[in-house]
Amino acid sequence: MALENLFSHHIICGKNIYVVDAHHKALAPWALIRHQLDRAPNLITIDHHTDVHEAFLGHAHLETYENGGDAWALARELVKRIDWRDDQSLLWAIEHLRHDEHIDAATLSSVLNYAFCIQLSDSGGNSSIEEQAYAADRQARWPQPPTLPPPSRPMTYEDPENHIFVIPHDCAIGCNRMPHNDDCVVEHANMIIESIYLDDQLVRGAEMSRCVGIDHLEAQPYILDIDLDAFHSWRAIEPSDVTTFYRLIRNAVAITVATEAECVEELKFDGETIDADILLARIMNHIKMAVG
Ligand SMILES: [Zn+2]
Repeated sequence: MALENLFSHHIICGKNIYVVDAHHKALAPWALIRHQLDRAPNLITIDHHTDVHEAFLGHAHLETYENGGDAWALARELVKRIDWRDDQSLLWAIEHLRHDEHIDAATLSSVLNYAFCIQLSDSGGNSSIEEQAYAADRQARWPQPPTLPPPSRPMTYEDPENHIFVIPHDCAIGCNRMPHNDDCVVEHANMIIESIYLDDQLVRGAEMSRCVGIDHLEAQPYILDIDLDAFHSWRAIEPSDVTTFYRLIRNAVAITVATEAECVEELKFDGETIDADILLARIMNHIKMAVG
């Protein structure tokens, strides 16, 4: 078994695209891309899920369930076994990673520098220093009102130990419903790669990246990573304004795509006829249009 067996490789107008069926196998192309660069690239990922579980924690839980010991400590020990220069260690890692553990494995083993997750499942994301202070103040003052004003952007962030920033979101851009409801879920997901939505996400990502010394995220080498389960409808994969998405494609050192057919099926909206094959073809077409 070689790393190359874990993905299919496509080149469109000089742009390298690596397609995997299960997202954790993306560690293989990420490492190969790392080989070709003089520093670890950042990751900009578009996904339904946050994919930020601790690497090997699933495997470590099984091991310690049978043999005793501290699963968290074992998981952290296992990450140290990954050497991105050593294909065998990467193959071992991919075999033992569970769902959503691959980004943590990649950032902690210096395959990736920082990861920025555009996602639909965690509205809060990484909380800022100002948000944490506000929450602490509100709790301390309860039932009296907090003394601090609610924080507003731009905000500042601590350097996360795992080098992963989950970018928060409010709702669909322009949504004024209060409270947000099921219609919001559809509107929000439908704009996942609309320029107006990505621009807002990238502004939040820039607040985060500046706090770790990355002044312009898109000016440094990054991999654009796309999980097809981020697309729940035809509307979502065919945005009306592709400007920002195409810029992200053009500026990426490479693109990885996880097809995750079962998740696509599970997450697509009722009545939608999309599937992973259709979405992959549409993504390839977007890439062709962006770089052609
Ligand atoms: Zn809403």
